[in-house]
Amino acid sequence: MIPLCVPNLAGNEGAYLAECVSSTFVSSVGPFVSRFEHMVAEAAGTTGAVATASGTAALHAALLVVGVRPGDLVICPALTFIASANAIAHCGASPWLLDISHESWTLDSAIFARAITKETVADGNGRRHVASGRRVAAVVPVFTLGTPADMDPILDVAWNAGLPVVVDAAAALGASYKGRSSGDLGAQLTMYSFNGNKTVTAGGGGAIAGSDQKLIDAFRHLTTTARVGADYDHDRVGYNYRMTNLQAAVGCAQMEQLDTFIAAKRRIAARYNEAFHDVPDARPFPRPSYCESGAWFSGLLLDAADGPERSEMLRNGLRAAGIDARPFWKPMHFQAPYRDAPRSALPVSEYLWNRIVTLPCSTHLSDEDQAHVIAETLRLTHQPALRPVRAASA
Ligand SMILES: *Cc1c(COP(=O)(O)O)cnc(C)c1O
Repeated sequence: MIPLCVPNLAGNEGAYLAECVSSTFVSSVGPFVSRFEHMVAEAAGTTGAVATASGTAALHAALLVVGVRPGDLVICPALTFIASANAIAHCGASPWLLDISHESWTLDSAIFARAITKETVADGNGRRHVASGRRVAAVVPVFTLGTPADMDPILDVAWNAGLPVVVDAAAALGASYKGRSSGDLGAQLTMYSFNGNKTVTAGGGGAIAGSDQKLIDAFRHLTTTARVGADYDHDRVGYNYRMTNLQAAVGCAQMEQLDTFIAAKRRIAARYNEAFHDVPDARPFPRPSYCESGAWFSGLLLDAADGPERSEMLRNGLRAAGIDARPFWKPMHFQAPYRDAPRSALPVSEYLWNRIVTLPCSTHLSDEDQAHVIAETLRLTHQPALRPVRAASA
């Protein structure tokens, strides 16, 4: 099976892990953790970064640090990985689900603006959601597929509404927006994940990046058991969300290869896009002109009325040919825990999600393997059953 997306561990990963073992620094303090944090801050374009046990943990603690409290609402796109909504729920808050833009598959700034104007009222320095009476405490744009949201208008709306912005840039390290790095766009804090399927992995892990030293210090305090001084004094209910030196050792070796990995991801995506140019009703993943995507995942969208059936047939056909191909995220309001979450109309999320097919895109995917994926995809999409039967409805 040609896998969808597996770690590329051809660098210093083994050597650095051996260093951890021989030095006995295997736990949550060690030289690789600090080095990793510096490398992440540099790549994010921020002055600070704190490494954590996972991206979800980082997002949870970041939301607490910007003031999300039990009972609040936090705006997030309906099309995201469930961890974005879970981090909000871990705060005792609820996601308020908004739709995405057809052009970027990220939070739509016009929809965000309309939701604030039409569905909230001013309340002190912030906003209250009229229908539920709950305070709106923050907004979490998600950089879907490593592609930044159109942040300038989103930040304008958030600023005017008094809402802190915490970005879920889980898979967007290496992406840029109008020439700026993904953590340097004006959000209070930006989260990255180093889970095994991300472009850069630490085995598992996450980080928060930002340039507001007070927020970074508060985040570090909260995620390291809220300890005061060197002894057993703690000033609040903290979390043990630290990354270990073992994870950071792998993370450092991976970060050394960030530029190479991103270049490989972009090359793979460009080759698929080129090859599928003439597939009936197939569209490439979004490439908005305001940014350079990290191109975390590659694949295609079957943009037709029968796209859900055709994309399932394509995935099954590819898997039968030894090629891993998968669907993409299922929107949050279709997930058991968020069925009743406040939401606005979600036509784009509902249209897109099950028309997406992701294809093998490991950074060390060989040219021959990609050629095989392309040939099989072309063969399958030109079979009569996979040809469009009706025109697209959206
Ligand atoms: C991977 C991912 C996460 C979760 O990160 P973990 O490190 O697995 O906790 C959150 N949000 C998005 C959009 C992701 O892709």
